[in-house]
Amino acid sequence: MNDEAATFCVTCPRSLYADEAGRYICRPCEQRIDGDLLALAGPGGLYARLCLRIHPGRSGDGPSVAGTRTAPVPVRLDVLSLTANGGIVSTLETWVEDWATYGLAQVGAGGGLQYRVDQAITTLRLNLTRAAAAHPALDEFAREIWQLRRQCEGGINGEPRPRRIPVACPCGTVLRVTLDTPGRQCGGCGVQYGHDDLFELPIAERNAA
Ligand SMILES: [Zn+2]
Ligand SMILES: [Zn+2]
Repeated sequence: MNDEAATFCVTCPRSLYADEAGRYICRPCEQRIDGDLLALAGPGGLYARLCLRIHPGRSGDGPSVAGTRTAPVPVRLDVLSLTANGGIVSTLETWVEDWATYGLAQVGAGGGLQYRVDQAITTLRLNLTRAAAAHPALDEFAREIWQLRRQCEGGINGEPRPRRIPVACPCGTVLRVTLDTPGRQCGGCGVQYGHDDLFELPIAERNAA
C-alpha cells in the first residue's frame, strides 16, 4: 500500500481509499462535480433556463412595474451578467483553456453562447476522470463549478438565496457560511477567518456534522 502519498481528497476532508491513490479528489467528489457540470448543460439545463429569466416580466413572476413613474428595467442585470459573454460561458472556457495546457481538454471553435457552454461542459466532463489524477487545482475548479450551479439556481428562482456552504476548518470543525458571510471565527479552534479565507477552506461533505 502507498503510505507516503497525499491521502486526502482536496475538495472534501475524506481520506482517499487505496484504489484512489494518485488522485487529487475522491470518486464521490468527482461524481458531484460531474453532476454540477451536467446540470448546467443542454437545452433543459440550468444555463438555458437562466437565459429565459433575462426579461423579468416575461415569465410572470417578476414584480409588476405597471404604474410606476420610472422606466422599468428591461432586463435583469444579475441574470444578464451571468448569461452573457464574460459570464458562465467564459468561466467554463477559461477552465477548458487551462485544462488544455495539461492535455485534458479540447478548446472549442466558438459559436453561439449555448453551444459554447455545452461544448465546454462536454470536454470538461469527458476529461474529468483523467483530471482527477492530473490537475492540481481541482478544488478551485470544483468550487467554481458549484458556484455557477448555485448562481443559476438562484437566478432561476428569482433571487440569489443565501445558501449555506459547509467548509471544513483544519481543526475538523465544519463552518456553515454563505457567500455573503463577511468572516467567521471557528468555534472549534478559535481561528478568525476573513471572507476570502473561508472560501479557501475545503468544502465539507454535505452530510458532515
Ligand atoms: Zn472528496
Ligand atoms: Zn478550527
